[in-house]
This record gives sequence, C-alpha cells and structure tokens, in this order.
Amino acid sequence: EIGYINGEFVSLNEKVIPIDERGHQFGDGVYEVIRIYDGKPFMMEEHLERLINSAKAIRLPITESVDDFKSLIMKAVEKSELHNCNVYLQITRGIATRQHLFPNVPASISMTVREANPLSDEMRNTGVTAITHEDERWANCYIKSLNLLPNILAKQVAHEAGCFEAILVRDGYVTEGTSSNMFIVKNGAVYTTPLSKHILPGITRIAVKEIANPLQINFYEEHFTEDQLMSAEEIFMTSTTAEVLPIVRVNDKPIGHGVPGEVTKKLYEQFKRKVETL
Ligand code: PLP
Repeated sequence: EIGYINGEFVSLNEKVIPIDERGHQFGDGVYEVIRIYDGKPFMMEEHLERLINSAKAIRLPITESVDDFKSLIMKAVEKSELHNCNVYLQITRGIATRQHLFPNVPASISMTVREANPLSDEMRNTGVTAITHEDERWANCYIKSLNLLPNILAKQVAHEAGCFEAILVRDGYVTEGTSSNMFIVKNGAVYTTPLSKHILPGITRIAVKEIANPLQINFYEEHFTEDQLMSAEEIFMTSTTAEVLPIVRVNDKPIGHGVPGEVTKKLYEQFKRKVETL
C-alpha cells in the first residue's frame, strides 16, 4: 500500500496533513474510489469525469486534466506493487488559515492505494441484509463530497442492527444506499432511482445499465417507494467495492424468497465478464 500527497509518495501512516487543511477542518473537498482489477482500472474515465464535475460543483478549481489524473493514478498503482487494489483520490480546497471564505491557495491532492479485500463468497452467495433509514443528507447528493456524516450515521445504525447497508428513504421514496445505488426487480425488469441531485450518479450503476441490454433485461430509471421496495422480487445494490450485491432481507423481512434472485445473479455474472475483458 502507498500514500500520495501534493507531489510526494509517502507511507500511509506518515504525518502529512497540516492542521489548517480544509478537507480536515471543513470537509471542503471531493473524492473518488477507483477499483483496479489485475492492474487494470475499471471505468477510470467515468470516475475522473465525475471527480471533475464534483469539483466544479463546489467551485474548486483544478488544473489537472483527466489524463494528468490517469497517469498519476497509474504511477501510484505501480509504486504500490498491488494488482488488485482500490485507489482513493481526494481533492480539497487546500491549506490556509481557518476561515470559511475560499482561500487563494492551490488545491490539495491526496491518494491512497490499498489492497482490495473483496466481499466473501458467502456474502455474495447468500446475499446481505439491510434496513431502511430516513435520508438525512443535503440537497446536493450528486456531488461526491467529503461530508459523509449522515451516511456514516445510517451505516452504523444498520451495522448495529446486524445489517450490511442502510437504504435511504426521502419523502417515502428510496434514494440510494449509504455508499451504493439501489435496484429492485419487478416482473423480471430492473428499476433504479433516476439521476437527480438527490443521488450520486454511480459508476457501477452505469455498468449495470449497459449490461442489462445484451441480457435482454428491461432497465427503467423510475422512482420507487419503500412499499415497492419491500414487495420487490429482488433487491440489489451496486458500488465500486460491492460490485453487484444481492439484498435478501430488509427490516428483518425476506425479499422475494429471501435468497439472491435470478436477475441479480445474471447481472453479476455479466459484470464479472466485463471485468475479465478489461
Ligand atoms: N451512492 C453513494 C452515496 C456512494 O457513496 C457510492 C459509492 O461509494 C455509490 C452510490 C456507488 O457509486 P460507484 O458505483 O461509483 O462506486
């Protein structure tokens, strides 16, 4: 594993962040998590485009191009000597004496490269459990911002209930998970929350949308309620680290037959094929 900050590679436990760093003090920054499979990045362009959009959305000027980030990331991966890893890339509004107004200083770029520890086969084969939880986040969840307090709090509630994920609900409708996008299956078709400011435009979500087509699985971006969630044939979540993961119980009630469904399995198999052809 390896760390990087503002032009230097460092070991992960080195003390490198000054106290007056805006990511640290305000959560004033944005980030990405990119998965590397066997040395090859998965949908890196899409991740970097989203990073640049997130930065724009918080008016954080960055001078690096997509290509600059690409070579920086691949250099870090090479240095880490890891083949299957997660790259965490963070950009903040830099280092300046604490005050709310934007400082006139360069952005800070930091990165970690760590070995990926994929979910156990058991979790994949039997599926995971979830709770529903009020979506207490702000109005701009499309930005991948460092401010994750509501996500963390909801995930912890899920964990303490013996569950893997919290499914967030806003005004009776499912938005997404604390760190995942959410999908239900109804009459064999897949439904997921449409893109809006209330959800993160997931990269794995894009992959699933692409994969559904050749499998002849209908894919709809439509809102669904908590009741529709509970009565779904199948539920699955997607994220860079969880990939396509079945959810088999919600609030202690079985979904469908309480086991991973056929549509979810097909999509996951196809997802793995996409990874194999990187
Ligand atoms: N939604 C939220 C709130 C997330 O934090 C994440 C990723 O961590 C996702 C969705 C899934 O996005 P991706 O598939 O790009 O990892």
